[in-house]
Amino acid sequence: MTVQIQKLKMLVAGEWRESSSGSFSSIVDPSNNQVIAEVPKASREDAEAAVESARHAFDSPEWRDMDPSKRGRILIKLTGLVRENSEELARLETLNEGKLLRESKGDVAWAARTFEYFAGLADKIEGETIPVPPKRLNYTLREPLGVTVHIVPWNYPIALASRSMAPALAAGNTIVVKPSETTPLTALKLGELATKAGVPKGVVNVVTGSGAEVGSELVSNPDVDGIIFTGSAETGKQVMQAAARNVTHVLLELGGKNPHIVFPDADLSKAVRSVKDGIFTNAGQMCWAGSRAFIHESIYNNFVNELVAKTKVMRLGPGIEETTEMGPVVSKARQETVLGYIKDGVAEGAKLLYGGKRPSDPKLQQGNFVEPTIFEDVTGEMKVGCDEIFGPVLSITKFQTVEEVVSMANETDYGLYGGLWTSNLKTAHDVASKLQVGVVAINEYLVTFPQTPFGGFKESGIGFEQGIRSLQYYTRTKNVSVNLA
Ligand code: NDP
Repeated sequence: MTVQIQKLKMLVAGEWRESSSGSFSSIVDPSNNQVIAEVPKASREDAEAAVESARHAFDSPEWRDMDPSKRGRILIKLTGLVRENSEELARLETLNEGKLLRESKGDVAWAARTFEYFAGLADKIEGETIPVPPKRLNYTLREPLGVTVHIVPWNYPIALASRSMAPALAAGNTIVVKPSETTPLTALKLGELATKAGVPKGVVNVVTGSGAEVGSELVSNPDVDGIIFTGSAETGKQVMQAAARNVTHVLLELGGKNPHIVFPDADLSKAVRSVKDGIFTNAGQMCWAGSRAFIHESIYNNFVNELVAKTKVMRLGPGIEETTEMGPVVSKARQETVLGYIKDGVAEGAKLLYGGKRPSDPKLQQGNFVEPTIFEDVTGEMKVGCDEIFGPVLSITKFQTVEEVVSMANETDYGLYGGLWTSNLKTAHDVASKLQVGVVAINEYLVTFPQTPFGGFKESGIGFEQGIRSLQYYTRTKNVSVNLA
């Protein structure tokens, strides 16, 4: 497929602009490392200008004081535009991030559903009246936070941008979105579609630039009222420190090292597929990847043999090709990091069952491919057993009892997502209650909806996205007491 290299602009104050320095960054297709677009390399000054634009838009009554049903209708229009442009959005996502086209189509559909869900909530953000001693009226108002900054990672660009843009806009905030400098294309397109949908000038700003320069300016800017950061725990901690200096609200959606547990009474053929897809979807670059599989000893050998057999036949290739079953990782640097972890795993004594290298297929040499990789005999002390590798690397451990597996599953600094497979209701609910994670999937994996909360415990984050209660974060509560005596 030939791709037209486009020089794009970014959206600040309702205008499509180049960066103040005039410089651009090249955006590449990770399946062959060819340049597919150029985007403005924003500077600190551009980030300041985007915050200023959002502040100005917030201070004018046009958006904040808009009839909330009308705000909802604008978001419904945006939903429709995302759906109308879903082919193009999915293609851009795959060319830029590397994931399979069908995964990108799913992400775009999810983004549209998220705008639709929060559009419906725009006029349902209610305060309360509170009973107090007589001759008074006491009530609460739920006001928008103000200017919100949305820092988005590269692994689910459109889905994660939409996940926080939708509630922020529904609640009447004005926003600055910073996609990862590696994968900015669909966020820029969302900016274009939001403008088309009728979002007033300056309400949505999209700045393309590095985390080190643009991201750090946005999260340190005293004119910002709320930060929604999705990314690694390491950067999340820096963001929290920067936010503390201005006492800015912060919502952190960070990484995971997620347990995927299979009990002997599970539907084993479904569980094998789920363990495989739970790690090799998006080449393992998922916060909720089931990167640690715990398999009961009584089914262990058959289960692992079948898993390895299914993994061996996976077809690697560009995500844009229909026959591909796993795409590349996002960058050369990520490829090196993942291969480094695999080397560490071998050195630490984990047993490599399959994969572990760059694939030998000559057609894949220009891209950032890593074979789907499976280790067994992994312990929680090994790097492959405790670090978030963020690549197609599965660590398997055998277990005997419920107590033992719960303790191993919780033996991590992370606490995002967990899956378990069993036909015993008691085991299912018992283990779900004991796992120290924010989201548990029983007899399925990689499932979440715009209406269900998603967030992590421990170092996986603070707060949660999705669901009606996530709107609490995007609003502030004001109490009003009226003396009627
Ligand atoms: P990073 O933490 O490296 O980057 C995340 C975002 O932060 C990017 O936009 C990056 O910009 C930006 N950034 C980098 N440095 C700073 C800084 N000092 N101040 C402000 N912003 C900064 O994570 P990755 O992009 O590598 O994403 C992968 C991580 O995201 C994984 O840990 C994954 O688990 C997590 N994640 C969590 C999810 C959740 O819902 N809990 C969902 C998806 C991913 P740039 O890339 O331009 O440098």
